[in-house]
Amino acid sequence: MCGIVAYIGHKPAKELLIEGLKRLEYRGYDSAGLALMNGDLQIVKAVGRVANLEAKVAKTKNLHAHMGMAHTRWATHGGVTEPNAHPHTDDKRKICLVHNGIIENYATLKKVLSERGRTFHTETDTEVLATLIGELYEGDIEQAVQAALREVTGAYAIVVWCSDEPETFIAARKGGPLMVGIGNGEYIVASDPSAIVAHTTQAFALEDYNVVKITRDGFRTSTIDNKSVSPKVMQLEMDLEETELGAFEHYMRKEIFEQPNALRTTFRGRIDLNEGRIVLGGVAKFAKELVKARRFTLTAQGTALHAAMIGEYLLEDLAKVPAECEYASEFRYRNPIIEENAVVVAVSQSGETADTLAALQEAKDRGALALGVVNVVGSTIARETDAGVYLRVGPEIGVASTKAFTGQVAVLTMLALYMARRKFMSPYESAQLMRELEKVPDHIERALQADSHIKSVVEKHCAKENWLFLGRGYNYPVALEGALKLKEISYIHAEGMPAAEMKHGPIALINDGMPCVFIANKGRQYDKVMNNIEEVRSRGGHIIAIATEGDDAIRDLANDVIFVPDVPEPLSPMVTVIPLQLMAYHAAVIRGHDVDKPRNLAKSVTVE
Ligand code: GLU
Repeated sequence: MCGIVAYIGHKPAKELLIEGLKRLEYRGYDSAGLALMNGDLQIVKAVGRVANLEAKVAKTKNLHAHMGMAHTRWATHGGVTEPNAHPHTDDKRKICLVHNGIIENYATLKKVLSERGRTFHTETDTEVLATLIGELYEGDIEQAVQAALREVTGAYAIVVWCSDEPETFIAARKGGPLMVGIGNGEYIVASDPSAIVAHTTQAFALEDYNVVKITRDGFRTSTIDNKSVSPKVMQLEMDLEETELGAFEHYMRKEIFEQPNALRTTFRGRIDLNEGRIVLGGVAKFAKELVKARRFTLTAQGTALHAAMIGEYLLEDLAKVPAECEYASEFRYRNPIIEENAVVVAVSQSGETADTLAALQEAKDRGALALGVVNVVGSTIARETDAGVYLRVGPEIGVASTKAFTGQVAVLTMLALYMARRKFMSPYESAQLMRELEKVPDHIERALQADSHIKSVVEKHCAKENWLFLGRGYNYPVALEGALKLKEISYIHAEGMPAAEMKHGPIALINDGMPCVFIANKGRQYDKVMNNIEEVRSRGGHIIAIATEGDDAIRDLANDVIFVPDVPEPLSPMVTVIPLQLMAYHAAVIRGHDVDKPRNLAKSVTVE
């Protein structure tokens, strides 16, 4: 799930590994550790921040090495304790390894290994893998790793070292991302390119079931069945400045404010007003299949799911094609029926979300055309899909997704318009909407100006532990997203739901002063939303309305109003979500939480 960095070369490994771990911090983790190999094996671990590990490392003598591995852990098996932090060794300290992911059959393996006399000192699944490799070692670490991986089920990205072959690393993956950076006489293995680019931009991504053996002199890649494979070396395109905070206090705030420019980049070169056409190079090869598609299934998790839900509305409303949106985790296991000419769209910021990837594979196996809507170029979903559209919003560091959400909605809007124009929409009608789409970044800019007003609204209510977020139509998924943002970083309990659903049960929750956020912008269901506001008001709820500029009447109904610019309804989610992002941000800051490292969360969820 979390971070891996390993180094072999001529530079001092200790500093390089700590620096690498810091670059991976944004992914969320609970403990960290590193191992250095210099004839001897030295391991240092710490619970909490990388800074704690750094302090411990500074106090440890003789940590000089040009080879080592490091890890940030997001606990899945076993509590957050120092012994459970990685790197792990087998009981003989012959094997040392770091692991992201889950070994699903660890309990069975642990039993068998215990019967053979092996002992365990942690609660992790990872230690079992280290022990299994140790048990299978017969003088060739590459072979031992391959043999062990043939026996495990689950997901892993690993780097392994063996004291009998002290100048060699073995790395492998299935399900979790892992890249190998190729420098000048040095190699850096990392789960995220941000830990590589400071040293080299030449790299390759390991594919599932691939194993790489790395020494100072070179590398060799194979499958776990020992068939040779040749990796595709690519040029990493990442500007480290984009991953730095600049004048902002938090990445989340920086990314919220980046949205106007991020979306300008998303739209650049893709809106052809003369022809009234959306240009999407990444799906052009499949234009015919898309026009003929009988059904779209959008699948995702978390914030991306909310973007996908908006995609469902857009595809039905604008492109007039049946669409449904599904939690990837549910879709995958419910034996889905994929009809002929079906398209599955996997939406994921990282392109590594395990649930989404599994759903995608299921749909592909059943004959669907697979599209990806992802941010990270070259990520697994990007590679595994037939075609796709990148968000182009730049690296998203904040764990709570913001600019990726608006980017995903922007791309899905373009996809709907792409199809609409090819199916039935006139160039005139489509150009009209596209002109409005191009203005969305300016509208977001304007919505952001309400920042200090939003802060003052939140100040009044952020001691309240229960909030409701309500919307209809296109803004129902926005209500869900508003509630999720608040939960994720301020730890306030919040529910999002269709405004009409409230009276079917949740209205029982409303008590005096409970903050109820209504997305009440002008649109087809405006009057209905007003009725719902009345219902809450008469039960003492405190109404915070997100309303369209110029709607003065709403002041009579709502206790607080946050205005957003007037935008055509299908495009409104990209604008109405802005105040909700800022509300969550301010609530978390006022309540004293670490906005960029929310408790228990990881940036990309690469376990099912
Ligand atoms: N399953 C392993 C553990 O709980 C690895 C977790 C991770 O991906 O960080 O230690």
